[in-house]
Amino acid sequence: MLDLLFPAFCQNCEKEGSYLCQDCKEILDISEFDYCLCDKNPVRINPGEKGKCARCSDKKLSGLYSALPYKEKALTRKLIHKFKYDPSIRDLAKVFSAILIEHFVKAGTNKNDIWENAILIPVPLEIKKQKSRGFNQSEKLAEELSKILTIPVLSDELLKIKKTPPQMELSKEKRQENLKNAFSVQNTEKIKNKKIFLVDDVYTTGSTMEECANVLRTSGAKQVWGIAIARES
Ligand SMILES: [Zn+2]
Ligand SMILES: [Zn+2]
Repeated sequence: MLDLLFPAFCQNCEKEGSYLCQDCKEILDISEFDYCLCDKNPVRINPGEKGKCARCSDKKLSGLYSALPYKEKALTRKLIHKFKYDPSIRDLAKVFSAILIEHFVKAGTNKNDIWENAILIPVPLEIKKQKSRGFNQSEKLAEELSKILTIPVLSDELLKIKKTPPQMELSKEKRQENLKNAFSVQNTEKIKNKKIFLVDDVYTTGSTMEECANVLRTSGAKQVWGIAIARES
């Protein structure tokens, strides 16, 4: 019914029928591979292998699954921007979750053992920011992925309790410092010994996910992996 009243249009070419038509989806070039966490010359990772190379092995995050390159595709940036700031097309979460699943299939990571005993946790927005914006796009994405992967999502366990200036404007060292004590886990029992997949829209420097992983691991999580629609490097 809602579809009849508010038909969906491709957010790129405006063709009626969906938020991203098949032709425009092909422009996105969904990746067949995953890479380690290094921001310079990341190493290709095979499915089921450790998610890090020797250079990034000290990171708390175990590895990252990401479907799209961010820099070279204007369309990716345009869609993610709409996803973040235009609540009228929140259904882009469905488009992006389908893109991620297509990536898992292409990369060979759609295996049951990868997702066994796992939970999804969206990277939170700062509490007041989320209230004023009304939604967290990463939470919407985690909810859609949860339906397809049939693994639970915990949205209220990891909170961002400190306001931080935009990461883009800061040096790498400053970013890390900036995020100290920014996140808090509500109930450690719920994440103890779990394999956690942190869900976010874009993996830029990785500082945010790394700090979330740090807090979750300190609270007893067994492993913390990342899932991002796109990665910057
Ligand atoms: Zn289109
Ligand atoms: Zn690496």
